[in-house]
Amino acid sequence: MNDHARTLIGQALQQAERFLLITHIRPDGDAIGSLLGLGMALLESGKAVQMVLDDPVPLQFRHLEGAELIKRAIQGDFDVSITLDCSDVSRLGKFGEGIEWHINIDHHITNDGFAKINLIEPEAVATAEILATNLDIWGFQVSKAVANALLMGILTDTIGFRTYNMRSDVLRLAAKLMDAGANLPVLYARNVYQKSFEAVKMWGSGLSRMQRRDGLVWTMITNQDRLMAGYPGKDDADMINLLTAIEDAKISVVFVEQPNGKVKVSWRAVPGVDVSQVASQFGGGGHPAAAGAELTGEIQELCEAVLEKTYLHLREDQRNSKNS
Ligand code: AMP
Ligand code: MN
Ligand code: MN
Repeated sequence: MNDHARTLIGQALQQAERFLLITHIRPDGDAIGSLLGLGMALLESGKAVQMVLDDPVPLQFRHLEGAELIKRAIQGDFDVSITLDCSDVSRLGKFGEGIEWHINIDHHITNDGFAKINLIEPEAVATAEILATNLDIWGFQVSKAVANALLMGILTDTIGFRTYNMRSDVLRLAAKLMDAGANLPVLYARNVYQKSFEAVKMWGSGLSRMQRRDGLVWTMITNQDRLMAGYPGKDDADMINLLTAIEDAKISVVFVEQPNGKVKVSWRAVPGVDVSQVASQFGGGGHPAAAGAELTGEIQELCEAVLEKTYLHLREDQRNSKNS
């Protein structure tokens, strides 16, 4: 099925002239890397390309060539619309309604296949990996700008090549992207381990409130924490990755209070535990090892409801893995 989708996508990319490319709101490195990777490859081959996103490009990704071309509005016509790294249209923000999507390229197991042509590869570590594997097959050059964008996507979704879904192929692909001009140490520094002073200060609040129950570890970041630290984003500043460093943590959860009355929840799990199922119960989604959801309500109440379901799920997955 994916081979057919791959062929159809190659034909569409070659034959059409005007493209609309979009990725998910609250963009991570893979979202921006995939958008820029495909967008710049099409632009450099002479196509007209609109790259849009219903959010500003986060500061840490603005060093990438072409980042300034990403707009928050659609201007004019296009022939082919493409979503990248996006599991369902509700993750497109204001662009989620009223647009017919031709092509959907993604690696989320929870992707519901909302486009005419869907290339969904859950075993890929990043959407950027799918693009890096296929761009030259589809007949496009991987320039330095494209290589940097795609390697950034792969690096961020694998947290610097260290998630459990890493394969040797991905390292070979990364080497090819370096040969095409991608600067691994710079991308690694800027997009994997460097954080702003304010981000690390906000971690302090989150860490001070950390709790655990058996293999479940969690914390929350409130609006007040964000204000006190002077952190400009609405995300957890990758705090979740600190919790996954705890050796007995089977599932880590971070709750981030949002100024609009919502609460962003992030889950991470070790192999054998699938948190995408819990996230789906709360209207979110993601991967077995990393999932998220956005809920409306009071943070303490949501926290209790989510932790209860998460704890039950952890017990169930552990029972199943003992029995299998
Ligand atoms: P995060 O915790 O935001 O880093 O997200 C972890 C994974 O879950 C990512 O692959 C996201 O694409 C996915 N994800 C996060 N939030 C949502 C959501 N509200 N709906 C569907 N998938 C999500
Ligand atoms: Mn993403
Ligand atoms: Mn991704």
